[in-house]
Amino acid sequence: MKRIIYVSHDQLNAKYGALKDANPKEDLIVLVESARMVTGDHWNKVRLYFLLSSAAHFVKSLQADGYTVIYQKSATTVDGLKEVLKKYPKLPIISATPSSFRLKKSLAEFGVKFIENDFFLTPPDLFAQWASSQKSYLMESFYRNQRIRLNLLVEKGKPVGGAWNFDKENRSSLPKGYKFPPYLEHKADEIDKRIATELGIKPATIWATSTAGARKVLKNFLDKHFALFGPYEDAMTSDNWALHHSLLSPYINNGLLHPSEVVDAAVKRFEKGDIPIASAEGFIRQIIGWREYVNGMYWHLGEDYKELNHLKAKRELLPLFTDPDKTKMNCIKQTVTDINERAWVHHIPRLMLLSNLALITGTNPQQFLQWMRRVFLDASDWVMVPNVIGMGVHADNGVMMTKPYAAGGAYISKMSNYCKGCIYDPKLRTGENACPFTTLYWDFLDRNHEEFVGNHRMAQQLFGIKRLKDMPEVRKRAQAVLAGLDKGLI
Ligand SMILES: Cc1cc2nc3c(=O)[nH]c(=O)nc-3n(C[C@H](O)[C@H](O)[C@H](O)COP(=O)(O)OP(=O)(O)OC[C@H]3O[C@@H](n4cnc5c(N)ncnc54)[C@H](O)[C@@H]3O)c2cc1C
Ligand code: SF4
Repeated sequence: MKRIIYVSHDQLNAKYGALKDANPKEDLIVLVESARMVTGDHWNKVRLYFLLSSAAHFVKSLQADGYTVIYQKSATTVDGLKEVLKKYPKLPIISATPSSFRLKKSLAEFGVKFIENDFFLTPPDLFAQWASSQKSYLMESFYRNQRIRLNLLVEKGKPVGGAWNFDKENRSSLPKGYKFPPYLEHKADEIDKRIATELGIKPATIWATSTAGARKVLKNFLDKHFALFGPYEDAMTSDNWALHHSLLSPYINNGLLHPSEVVDAAVKRFEKGDIPIASAEGFIRQIIGWREYVNGMYWHLGEDYKELNHLKAKRELLPLFTDPDKTKMNCIKQTVTDINERAWVHHIPRLMLLSNLALITGTNPQQFLQWMRRVFLDASDWVMVPNVIGMGVHADNGVMMTKPYAAGGAYISKMSNYCKGCIYDPKLRTGENACPFTTLYWDFLDRNHEEFVGNHRMAQQLFGIKRLKDMPEVRKRAQAVLAGLDKGLI
């Protein structure tokens, strides 16, 4: 053997990263399962099942291709590599650049040589060039550059369909009695069963754990959901946990699928002619726009960005985040129950329910971030940190988003059916039956009036408070709601 190639659990692809030039006769492949990864942080077991089973399937596929693979269990990644070096002393170690500051630093200090991380579509220096030329980091401006650079949905320099962005057509709520196609199930194999038994759970057959399975998910999305992805992208319902979302983030994030494979397949499907442009553009925007932008911003904003707390939010994490029985709020109860069961909900519950609640209750951003990291299947530092600190709870003073995503019950009522089954009334802001979101939304704007008064994008919302005659009662009710939430009684 001439080299050790270290492959992290989020780079499971033989065509990219350090494996793309690998040779079974000369390269020893090493994966390390660190104790931190499995036991460190009370991880959601469905998340662990997915990560560990995907890695085990990947190891098997490398072995089938003739590679010698060591799957090392150790306290830390570096300890794991040290163990391997005892058996193979003096071999150089290479890896694709890790996707977090922490791992990059520890591997670099240990002497691992990095080759380019090509699990994204945007080289780091290209993003840095874009970011350094911007006054404010608008995703939309980055995204238009990406469309042109990658030549996607562009004809002669103009956007296909006549507009760069069909976001306004992505906000419909679901009609009554709307029927969804059945969920895709993945039959558990021996590896899945072994990992699930080790974790003390049943195999989570809603998630694929192999490249072939991930490709089935992609095909299922393109055949059955792509056309309707656009209009119902922001809708929420208790009747269906996936709606028309692609469910692809776990596989793109752990390497089983590469973003270029997803984008190419989506464009090819669009070119058949039966996918509306609002759906095609909306989906492509998520992958080449949001995903790439978030990764670029993670590196651009630096390691200390995750510690920001501009609004000085001090509240301890509410008990309802870890136990859905600690709330009567139907939307939150169902969302947290869904997360416990599947380690996934789509972006609107993440943003407009969970993060919105953390924002308007003044929950400490770092505690909230830590919880989000623990419970989601697709969570990693590079994606959670900007999404939570910047987009979710506005802890960065608007570096990423020009205004906070705060909303009351009216928005949730419009976009979901949760309020119909709730003891609270989204229209009320005071009284025992007032929706906690509605009360706390006004209280949040009131508490942070000075903070947002200079922000012209908040003018309409702040103007709304002036018309409220009952602000003293709202403030009083807000105190009762916050105390009730702290005790797990609201
Ligand atoms: C507070 C908050 C936390 C989030 N945490 C994560 C996370 O830990 N991991 C994660 O992958 N996504 C995260 N997202 C983004 C988004 O919610 C998920 O990517 C999406 O819900 C995954 O489901 P899907 O694959 O069906 O996505 P779809 O709705 O089908 O979208 C397609 C793809 O677009 C990409 N994408 C869309 N929005 C984003 C975004 N904001 N950031 C990064 N990628 C995006 C994903 O790869 C996704 O698979 C977060 C969003 C918010 C608001
Ligand atoms: S009334 Fe308020 S708490 Fe209840 S489901 Fe609607 S938004 Fe959620």
